[in-house]
Amino acid sequence: MAKSKPKVGIFGLTGCAGDQLQILNCEDQLIPLARQMDIVDWVMASSRNDHTCRLDIAFVEGVVATERDLESLKEIRARTKTLVALGTCAVWGGLPAMHNEIPREVLQREVYHSSPLHFLDTVEALPPTHFVPFEITLPGCPIERHEFLRVAHALLAGAMPEFHMLPVCWECKAKENLCRVVYFQEVCAGAMTRGGCGARCPSHAVACAGCRGPLEEPNYDANITMFADRGISWVEIARKMSQFSAPVWIKQGLEKEVRHERRR
Ligand code: SF4
Ligand code: SF4
Repeated sequence: MAKSKPKVGIFGLTGCAGDQLQILNCEDQLIPLARQMDIVDWVMASSRNDHTCRLDIAFVEGVVATERDLESLKEIRARTKTLVALGTCAVWGGLPAMHNEIPREVLQREVYHSSPLHFLDTVEALPPTHFVPFEITLPGCPIERHEFLRVAHALLAGAMPEFHMLPVCWECKAKENLCRVVYFQEVCAGAMTRGGCGARCPSHAVACAGCRGPLEEPNYDANITMFADRGISWVEIARKMSQFSAPVWIKQGLEKEVRHERRR
């Protein structure tokens, strides 16, 4: 009897849908991949979906920014064996979580002006990883296609994908780029940011903005010293890192250090 294909779902919470687009952008590699799975629930790509069946693998992008998002996330978790967080929003909070300190009523008023009845169930924007456990996290704004394909192929083979946890700086050095910090005194987040993008920005003479989120164990003390030696304050680098991973910075109390340094 032929082995049944794993059932797969792909979901977007609040976000730009860029990670789902990256999957569609796999183009010629997507068809052979799709033949090995049974994609049963993917609203972006199909109008025929099964919203209740059990799933072997599910990919979730975006943040929890409404009560509806949280409900959907819990439902997806309950029906899924292997859950993958796709993109920096899902792993770290990304851009939607950048300004959680501003009250939502203020944001609603400034963006929508009149009474925003459609947005009454909004909540503080936080990554799905804050609410439910995930088996795999794949950051990136958006994700790298080669990393998505590696995850998908590994899961289809019954294995867990492995990624190197080296910083963007490592990839940048391997490309022999001129360092944006050392040569141009720019605030570059490459030393604390998880690699995998091939140091895309510094390779185009632009400092890394930290869009892939922090390494698992960035050496904050060494980084503070390294930046200070080059005239870059911790506030500047923390601000840069907070653009894409504000919730984790606040969780680790680093925001307090930034506030403290601001007051000095
Ligand atoms: S340019 Fe940025 S990513 Fe490249 S080595 Fe310097 S600090 Fe690291
Ligand atoms: S260099 Fe930094 S900002 Fe640019 S893609 Fe890589 S992680 Fe993102």
